[in-house]
This record gives sequence, C-alpha cells and structure tokens, in this order.
Amino acid sequence: GSGKSTLLNLPSVKAPSDPAVFVPVDRLPEIEVARLKLPILSEEQVIMEAIKENMVVVLCGETGSGKTTQVPQFLYEAGYARSDKIICITEPRRVAAVSMSERVAREMNLSNRIVSYQIRYEGNVTSDTKIKFLTDGVLLKEIQKDFLLTKYSVVIIDEAHERSVYTDILIGLLSRIVPLRNKKGQPLKLIIMSATLRVEDFTENTLLFPTPPPVIKIDARQFPVTIHFNKRTPIEDYVGETFRKISKIHRMLPPGGILVFLTGQAEVHSLCRRLRRAFPFKPNKKPEEMDESEEPILERKKLKRTKQMKVMTMPKINLDNYSALPVDEGDEDRDAGIDDEEDLPDSDLDLDIGDDDTGEEGMKPDPTLPLYVLPLYSLLAPEKQAKVFRPPPPDTRLCVVATNVAETSLTIPRIKYVVDCGKVKKRYYDRVTGVSSFKVTWTSQASANQRAGRAGRTEPGHCYRLYSSAVFGDFEKFTQAEITRRPVDDLVLQMKDLNIEKVINFPFPTRPSSEVLIAAEELLIGLGALEEPAKSGRHQELERAKLSCPITHLGRVMAAFPVAPRYAKMLALGRQHDCLPYVITIVSAMTVREIFDEFDRPVISEEEKEKLTGKKARVLQMRCIWAGQGNSLQLGDIMVMLGAVGACEFAGCTSKFCSDNGLRYKAMVEIRRLRGQLTNAVNSVCSDAKLFVDPKMKPPTDLQVTYLRQIILAGLGDHVARRISTEELLDVKWKNGYKTPLLDEPVFIHPNSVLFKELPEFVVYQEIIETSKMYMKGVSVLQPEWIPVLLPQYCHFGKPLETPGPSYCKETGKVKCHRESTFYRIGWQLPAVEV
Ligand code: ADP
Ligand code: MG
Repeated sequence: GSGKSTLLNLPSVKAPSDPAVFVPVDRLPEIEVARLKLPILSEEQVIMEAIKENMVVVLCGETGSGKTTQVPQFLYEAGYARSDKIICITEPRRVAAVSMSERVAREMNLSNRIVSYQIRYEGNVTSDTKIKFLTDGVLLKEIQKDFLLTKYSVVIIDEAHERSVYTDILIGLLSRIVPLRNKKGQPLKLIIMSATLRVEDFTENTLLFPTPPPVIKIDARQFPVTIHFNKRTPIEDYVGETFRKISKIHRMLPPGGILVFLTGQAEVHSLCRRLRRAFPFKPNKKPEEMDESEEPILERKKLKRTKQMKVMTMPKINLDNYSALPVDEGDEDRDAGIDDEEDLPDSDLDLDIGDDDTGEEGMKPDPTLPLYVLPLYSLLAPEKQAKVFRPPPPDTRLCVVATNVAETSLTIPRIKYVVDCGKVKKRYYDRVTGVSSFKVTWTSQASANQRAGRAGRTEPGHCYRLYSSAVFGDFEKFTQAEITRRPVDDLVLQMKDLNIEKVINFPFPTRPSSEVLIAAEELLIGLGALEEPAKSGRHQELERAKLSCPITHLGRVMAAFPVAPRYAKMLALGRQHDCLPYVITIVSAMTVREIFDEFDRPVISEEEKEKLTGKKARVLQMRCIWAGQGNSLQLGDIMVMLGAVGACEFAGCTSKFCSDNGLRYKAMVEIRRLRGQLTNAVNSVCSDAKLFVDPKMKPPTDLQVTYLRQIILAGLGDHVARRISTEELLDVKWKNGYKTPLLDEPVFIHPNSVLFKELPEFVVYQEIIETSKMYMKGVSVLQPEWIPVLLPQYCHFGKPLETPGPSYCKETGKVKCHRESTFYRIGWQLPAVEV
C-alpha cells in the first residue's frame, strides 16, 4: 500500500444491523433529545460497521461532537460488553476519566457500578462494570499484569491528538496485542479517537500498523467563529489584559458565556478573584439553592464548618513525636496558601486601554449584570468542576476561567466568547541532564484554533486573541508529542519488564531520539535494573549494546512499583533495618512533588527571610524543627518531608493543619493515598513484608537516619554534587555553587532548603529546577566515603595503596587492602576504600 488511509465519510443511516445483539439502554427523554443533536449520532452506523470490519479504527471529530460520551454507548448497545468482556476508554487526564464516567452513567441511566472509572489513586470499578474509564497510565500498568488485556473486548484510546507519552506507548503496545488476540480467536478492537485530523503518525506508520486503519471523520456542526487579534505586540501582563478584555466583553456584548484560557491554577484563581470583585454575584436568598463556592466569603465559612466535622471523626493522636508550634490567632482567617491578591494593581476598573476589536457590535452597555465566575483546572474537585456544565443562575453571565483542560477534554456548553492568552505552561527537560523547568510559552496554532473553536458550539461566536496575527504566524503548527520532550527511563523500564528488550525497535508513533533512549538505559544500568553490557568491543558496538540490555531481577522488582525508577530503587533497598515505612513516605513525598506552599514567590532572600513575621516566619521555623539537628539535619530536605508528613498525619491530615504549617493540603492527601498504594505494592512484591500504613510512625532512630541517607544516595547516585572550592572559583557568581558530573554550569542549593546555609561539601539532590539560577531541590548531605562503596559503578579504582599496608582478615581468609577511587569522568578524589 501507499500508506494512505481510507477516508470514510458516509452520512447514510441504516437500521441496527443485528437486532439480536442489541442491548437496550433506558435513557431519560431529555437525554435522548440532547443526544440526537450530537453530530456523531448520525454516524453511528458508519462507525459501528467500520469497527465490525476492522481491528483498528481511527475516529476524528471536533471537540464536542460526542466521541467520548457516545462511542462507549454505541459499543455497549451493539453488545460489546455482553459477555465477560468489557469496554474500556483511556483518558490522559484524571479529571476527564472521572467526569466522563459520571456523565456516561447518567446518560445511560446506569449506576457507577456499571459505568465506572479507575485513576491512579481511586476508582469505583466493580465486578458488574461494563464500561470503564481509566487514565492511560493505569491501563499501561494493567498490561504489565495481563499483556493480552483479556478483560476487554474494546480499548478506546481517547484524546490521542494530545500525544501524551502513555497514550503513545499504549498505541504501540496495542498494535501488537490486537493481532495476538485475533490469533487466539478472542478479537480485541482498538479505537483511536482524536480531536484533530492530524493522525498520520498513527495511520501512515507502517511499523505501527502494516495495514493502515480506516479513518472516520465526524463532521461537527461548527458555527463560524470570528477571530479578533490584538493589534499590539504581546504584553507581559496577559492576566491583566485578560481581565480587561473580559470586562469589556461583559459590558458591551450581547449575552453568551465567556471561556478564558490561562496557563495554570494560580493564574486561574487570581483572575477569578479579581472578576468576582469587579462584578459581584449575589446568590439567591434561598439557602438550599445557594452554591457556596460562588461567593468566596461564604465558601470559606462553609468549608470551615465541614473541616471541623472532619476533625472530630478523626482519631485523636498524641502529638509528642512531631512537635507543632502553636498557631498565631491572627492567622485563623487566612485562605490556605494561594494568597496572591497583593500583586494585583488597583486600576481594575480602568477600561480605556485601547487595542481592542470588541466594539464593533456596538451593543448597549449593561454594567449591572453580575458575572457568574467559575474556575476550571485539572486538580479542581470534581463537584466544583461539574458546575461548568450546569446552566448559570438567571440574570448572570457565565464566565469560565480555565487551563488547557477546556481545550479538548471537556466541552463547556453555552460559550459564545473565547479569550485566549495564547500561552501554555509546560514542563521542559534537558534531554540528557534531566534538568527540568516550567516554562510559559506560546502554544501551537493547532491548539489556538481548538481554543477558538470552543466559541462556536451553539451559535456563531467570537474569539479574542491577546496576540497579533504576526505572532500567531510564528507559533509552531502543532504541539509536539510529549515523548520527544522528556526523559524516558520509566518507560524503558516498563518496556523491559514487558520483555521488550530492544526498545529502539518498539513501534513508537513518534520515536524518541537514540540519545534519549541511551541516557535512559545508562541510568537504569547505573541503578542495577538492567544488565551492564560487556565492556569489550568498540564504542559503536557498546552504544548499540546499551540499547538492548536485558532486565535484572532487581529491575523486575523496581518495575512493580508505580514510581520513577530512582525511587523504585530506594523502595527495593528499604527493607533493611525496618526503613521501609520511612522510604515509602519519602518516595511518596518526592513523587507528589511541591509539598510546600512556597508563599507568593518561590525564592526568598536571606534578608527577606529575617524580616518575615507571623505565619510565614512560623512556617520556616517549622521546617527547621522537622529537619532536627545532627544526623537528622544531614538528611536535610528529605527529613523535612518526612517530618512534615509525619506531623500532618498526627494531626489527622486536616487542611487547617496544612494551611497553618505551609503545606499543600492536596499534596498531603495524595501522599497519604500513595503511601497506601506503595505499601500494598511492597506487600505484593514480598509477601512476608506485611507492612501497613502507620499514621503514628515514630521518627527514625539515629541509625535509621544514616541508612536512609544511604538509601537516598543509592537511588539518586547520578545526582551527586560537590561544592566548588575557593581555588576552583572562576567567577564570583559561582560562590556557594556546586559542581555536578553532567553540567558545566554551577548549581546552587535552593534558598528554601534547610541546608541553604550549611553548604555541605557533598550533597545529593532530588532534582534541579532552573529559574533565575539552577537550583537543587530536595537536598541531603552525603559522606564521600559512601560513594565508592554504594556507587562503585560510577567510580574508577586505582591501584591498591601501600599505606596502610595490606592486612589479613581471619573471618574471610582474604587479604584486605585499600584502594583509591575517583568519581565519574570528572575524577573527584574520594577517600580510600578497603577491598
Ligand atoms: P467529544 O468527546 O467529541 O469532545 P463529548 O462526548 O465529550 O464530545 O461531549 C458531547 C456533548 O456532551 C457536549 O456537547 C458536551 O457539552 C456534553 N457534555 C459532556 N459532559 C457533560 C456533562 N457532564 N454535563 C452536561 N453535558 C455534558
Ligand atoms: Mg472527548
């Protein structure tokens, strides 16, 4: 074949093909009416025929055409979940998996025992489940346990255009699983759904699918959307500009909901607060109709009440082991963490800012109409997130302030105006060193067009872009697949565990560069998860050998843990000296990341720190208390994490405790779940471990702290840094800097680290984040003499030393002598080791 895919686009509708397999669904009349309006409904026959005839089908349709909610129902009705096999549908985002399962259950008038979801920490799947929504990462884990996915009759990969790594890997794996299932006489159908027509990576990649799968295109009823570009060059304060644009739309333009795209949760909250202040919304008098979160003050009061109730049902535990400082009374009323009101200018109501194309329709202004402002982002609680689907209260205008989630995963009804800041927040990794940074950058043209399209779902709409058409012309055309932007050590380990030895031959929809694959294999070899290739042979052969190293026993154990390989190694070592409960806690905290509320700005100078009063000062003081003294302080930020989790659990993990002590409540709740999950994983890997999560976990003993420091080092062996000595100082800017094996530039201890002032000679860090400088986070101190013993793979050993001379060891019958060692290619001299 030429590799071209067939394009089926037939509008014909026939009666259900085989009434014998028709499984009726008892939908409510109003649901039936709403369904019939969806463009996908007229294509049901075409879609179902294609699925019947083909093992793999690609389905493209604009956001809102009904793919996610309707295709599982078509399959259900056609009998794909009749026998013991069920239908599953993957989502890259947890929020979509949860809300879509709820929506489909409601549409089908079935309970969530039948239409269920499973995400990383929770789910409501039962033995009666017929349609299961899950995150792509969860399905990958299921493949590890059951390669043929025997539970399922159909796998739907939703939002494939987002090109999340797990989605890509799943499609690669499923391209092999589908023919295997076919051979066994138990066919598995694969449906790949995309909101864009750009599916060549799936259809024209003959490594993936030798016969190109058919592509079905759903013509969405899309109303025209008028695009208004800003005339001016882009402005720095795009949140402020967004505010002004919304104010203008609200005052000047006819009714219709507004959807705003910003880049992150903090921005969303800040804009919501500002809009609510400018256009206050007073809920109806009737308390039962009142929706607490629409009015910030009310919301806080209500929250407090529920919080108190929660505290009462928690077991009261003794706080002796983790001391907590008393709370300043004045702080009681403060909002938890997100407190960025100070940085808003006071000229909120100044509308005369020029550069707008909004005036054309010249409608009469209506300054009295309240704005019904709703936030929407991935981590928002599902109840709050569901509000965007309900009609706004009468005589208000809906305004949804969202992150990228609203771009394709969720379709918000009643939107007529879109305000697009044009930016997106992404995590960037240096491909080799793994240094990561969050960057707000321009989005792609495809994504900007998706955003604009949200305005034309129900009637003609308008999209206001806060950038000029020239800038738009410079955007990249499409968003790159995630797999090309991040390290892949976790994926490589998972694949090796699936016995895919030559990862380079894996049918990736987009293959990561061999440089990145080699970096991943080198890390895994260093961790002992893969066998080291024989050192003989030429460089080229060695590089090739590195791409096909078999997995070790340790590697298999590590692959069983749902965390990054570095942390999995720590778990695998943690059995010694009863350290596991601590290691599980540390690994959970490191995996969840950002467990501290870092005030308004991440970096605070020493002088600023001294001047802090009230809550902030107490929070910093708490961290010092959690870090402790002596050996415990040597464990550094890791000890702070351990102390924070311990103290928080002692206090019953309340949001009040978190807010009082500068912890992120959501992070703490996630850590709690992950601890449970990892404890179960450890128990299932080694049945005699019999661990349980003990909230009353005692602080580790001095000896255990030493072991923990070593376990951390064993997992983060490639994250060692040495302080740059005065003689090595090439530049004053390097003062207090550290040198790492892979970076030329110096790195620094993050100012929020408890070791910031200590400046130990050798440290091991969790990660490097680049902001104004390259900062190490999650720092602990290491003894240089541990390196040759715990990380021999990174050392070069010299000849045996003459002093002290060789000695005979009676127990082993061997002669022991000292050898000198140097670290890595950079050759740091390390203390001699006895061999
Ligand atoms: P697609 O997957 O093609 O983007 P969906 O199946 O998600 O489309 O959405 C189809 C329609 O269902 C949309 O018009 C959307 O507004 C509506 N819808 C989705 N979820 C909900 C919900 N929770 N409540 C009300 N309507 C919803
Ligand atoms: Mg969808």
